[in-house]
Amino acid sequence: MSHVKDSHKIRTLIDAATLDKRVTELAAQIDRDYAGGDGLVAVGVLKGAIYFFTDLTRRLTVPVTVDFFQTSSYGSGTSAGEVRIKRDIDMSIRGRDVLLVEDIVDTGWTLRTILDLFRFRGARTVRLCALLDKHEAREVDVPIDYSGFRIGRDFVVGYGLDYDERYRNLPDIGVVEFDEGRQEA
Ligand code: 5GP
Repeated sequence: MSHVKDSHKIRTLIDAATLDKRVTELAAQIDRDYAGGDGLVAVGVLKGAIYFFTDLTRRLTVPVTVDFFQTSSYGSGTSAGEVRIKRDIDMSIRGRDVLLVEDIVDTGWTLRTILDLFRFRGARTVRLCALLDKHEAREVDVPIDYSGFRIGRDFVVGYGLDYDERYRNLPDIGVVEFDEGRQEA
């Protein structure tokens, strides 16, 4: 199935039912790993992770507090030292078990930067959960403890992910098929 939205053709890559099933599996795995502890601080990376974050955290049965972090990078790509903090978390994470929840890991710089910052602030543990892993695009090593799906290098939208702030609310994840010869991005 493919959608034509606001002139972009979007080819479904992962449909809503498949996403739902995988999110349930990830939540079960996280529940098992944190069982018996004093709970975790789940930190969602805005805005792309919002749908994944809410679906995931509402399936957890271990005690959870939620917070959000927002980054942006200079220019079009992400690279070393160029990840800016747009919104920091409200809570203290000193001595806490933190689960960082991200939509997609591409070069790895965004998660690497937040991971190092949270460790510096004295979190007891920081684990990473990412719905999508663009493994081939990795520039810096990040240990993804909970990974939803490995995908290729194509630009994807939906289930929180945008193209120029559009398509976040699509229920499936899809690849934007840009027209040949048309200038985009
Ligand atoms: P990294 O720092 O790993 O290079 O970049 C991660 C960020 O880049 C993600 O949080 C996301 O905002 C953005 N990104 C990378 N690949 C895609 C993609 O295919 N689609 C969308 N919408 N955003 C992407």
